[in-house]
Amino acid sequence: MKFYSTNDSTHTADLATAIFRGLPADNGLYMPERLDPLPDSFFRDLPDMSFAEIGFQVSKHLLGDDVPEEDLKELVYDAINFPAPVVQLDDKRSVLELFHGPSLAFKDFGARFMSRLMGHFNKGNDKQLVILVATSGDTGGAVAAGFYKTPGIEVVILYPKGKVSLLQEKQLTTLGHNIHALEVDGTFDDCQAIVKKAFLDQELRSELRLSSANSINISRLIPQSFYYFEAYKQLGADGDPVAFCIPSGNFGNLTAGLLAQRMGLPVHHFIAATNRNDVVPEFLATGKYIPRPSVATISNAMDVGAPSNFARMLNLYGHVNGLDPLSPSTHAAMKELITGYAYGDAATEQAVKEVEERFGYVIDPHGAVGYLALTEWQQANPNTRGVVLETAHPSKFKPDVERILGHEIEVPQRLAEMEDREKVATQVGTDYEPVKEWLKAKYL
Ligand SMILES: *Cc1c(COP(=O)(O)O)cnc(C)c1O
Repeated sequence: MKFYSTNDSTHTADLATAIFRGLPADNGLYMPERLDPLPDSFFRDLPDMSFAEIGFQVSKHLLGDDVPEEDLKELVYDAINFPAPVVQLDDKRSVLELFHGPSLAFKDFGARFMSRLMGHFNKGNDKQLVILVATSGDTGGAVAAGFYKTPGIEVVILYPKGKVSLLQEKQLTTLGHNIHALEVDGTFDDCQAIVKKAFLDQELRSELRLSSANSINISRLIPQSFYYFEAYKQLGADGDPVAFCIPSGNFGNLTAGLLAQRMGLPVHHFIAATNRNDVVPEFLATGKYIPRPSVATISNAMDVGAPSNFARMLNLYGHVNGLDPLSPSTHAAMKELITGYAYGDAATEQAVKEVEERFGYVIDPHGAVGYLALTEWQQANPNTRGVVLETAHPSKFKPDVERILGHEIEVPQRLAEMEDREKVATQVGTDYEPVKEWLKAKYL
């Protein structure tokens, strides 16, 4: 499979190039050149397939022979080693729990698949690969857990001092081995600026093999399509049409759903749920796309003002060259299939309470935004089955959820254990040069 740039469809790259580069030189995003439907036999066999087997079949279909079949199977089975159960709220609504991985958020799927794919293409290379990533919290935890002990790959995570939660910090700083944390005395933007400078530093790059692991990497998107098939399998083909509701920030999760649909999954409708950072719902309603600085909310993993995957969504709806002005036909096509809703924190908190009172289910603030959107959409579309993607475990947002519910909530063992582990981080300022020297001293 070749991957093209959303800014220039004639610019293509093979899989290894697309994943190691992350971004095409023209600053577009990589997209698979073909998205053919899976064969009928796949859907016939789906009810009896394990989740890992679904992942293998979908990746084989998508990647062709880019990875030898045996290797691909091993890699997917190793990455997808935890479940994604659908939990019924009532006969019309359910949640798809995507938090059963090591960092308790859906980003584990992308990070685990990406690390194993990079590990595969990195084999036989005697120069180690250094992954540099800036995080405001969640991404770093998934990347750290996902790449932990991957042979030949070192991971350096930059995070802003005092601006991530205690548990998030533990996820970044306690693993050891090939995972290293740099605690930056600055903001997330400072972290990102340092990473950017490193990538632009030709001298450093001539000595060190550098790559990134951020959410725009196509290898993070691919495995996120697996669980749409898995959810559909669990719901069963018989019954009302299925709509997916996706609590969204950078819109990677929703884009992965669109890929699943292009591969033949019979999705009736997508619901894009956001907090007050509502540029995409606004676009769907008005046809005007106005990115702007994000505002802080209690569903903070969705505090994004310029969603990075929006270019991919447009591309799937006929906006072939990302540098051209948007055409009304792209907006019309997207509106047909995706409806957007946005909610403030007060409504979100109310929804967390309501879901517990009505269904005895503890939902996290991101899932709660999704619950609101699904419920609103189903009022106009009653004969449907709706699935909300529960993107993180509520205990990741323990202080807020406990304050809202007025009682303690359960913390899974794997998260609780982390609290006692010792933090190891290297302190740095916001200047690039000392970080460069640190990288050279450590890896050259
Ligand atoms: C990253 C994240 C999101 C947003 O997902 P996108 O793919 O960026 O839209 C939503 N919820 C949680 C808990 C997240 O960590």
